[in-house]
Amino acid sequence: MEQINTECDLLAKQARMELPTIDGEPNVFQHEGLSIWDASHEKLTCNIHHSIYTYYFARKAQTTITHKYEWNVHQFRDIDWQANQKANQIMSQPTKQWISKYITKFLPIGRNMLRRQHWREDYCPRCRVCVETHDYLLMYTHPQCQQTFRTSLEKLDTWLQAQLTPTKLSYEILHIITEWKMGITSHPTPHQTYPIRNQIRLGVRHFIEGRILKDFGEYMDSHYQTLSTKKTGAKWAATFLQKLWTIVHKPQWENRNSFVHKINEEPEKTRESENLQFELTTLYLSKLPENLLATDQHLYSHSLSELR
Ligand SMILES: [Zn+2]
Repeated sequence: MEQINTECDLLAKQARMELPTIDGEPNVFQHEGLSIWDASHEKLTCNIHHSIYTYYFARKAQTTITHKYEWNVHQFRDIDWQANQKANQIMSQPTKQWISKYITKFLPIGRNMLRRQHWREDYCPRCRVCVETHDYLLMYTHPQCQQTFRTSLEKLDTWLQAQLTPTKLSYEILHIITEWKMGITSHPTPHQTYPIRNQIRLGVRHFIEGRILKDFGEYMDSHYQTLSTKKTGAKWAATFLQKLWTIVHKPQWENRNSFVHKINEEPEKTRESENLQFELTTLYLSKLPENLLATDQHLYSHSLSELR
């Protein structure tokens, strides 16, 4: 915070030099601990202070994000950040917290639980085969998740229809989400609508995580104009993102948790027997009967399920 204050202070002074004429009495921005200004008894107006902070953090965010995804400036600008901001405003606090934990990879999934030493392994609690990472979380293929996923897609489809989304675009959206879930790589084709084609080129993963292109809002805007409705592409994009998080992604997490908490409700016994079963399976599969002592050979006359 101190460093930001110092940097903001320099920016503020610079802005003050560049904008020497500020009319009227300054509207002093009094915020305890954040007030950074100033040595010569001049104070920034609330507006300028706010603009400098916004400018500063927007620049920081742009640098971090373009570096993270190896984007150029254009790719960064093509993303509908405004839709993200609006979606953020209409979502509940717990959902927002969940999303920020997902994006920053802080959710209590297997990998983090092992790192934080709460669990003894990082396996997915359902199949105990795959390591539970953030990517794995939104690609669940377990039977229970399939049903949740189908219901989610139906709800999303209903919403898309209610927003008068063209059938072709609705179908393409549902299709790329399904392909992503199934681990299939989507390919751009000339027959697709341009928002989908461009989004696939940028990466479906960005779409899944809410970094949708401005193309969607523009496409919906021109579609709404032909229908002479008051609906707007900007509203469509923001609400779409809200629906994506709340009716497609979040239920997968809740579904996963209901399973994990069921284990935790009967802690010792269930957890222990789960661990024993796991060790038994690993042991059974890792030893070849002919390497065993003659006295132990009889164990392999039983199948794994009989032993369990
Ligand atoms: Zn699994």
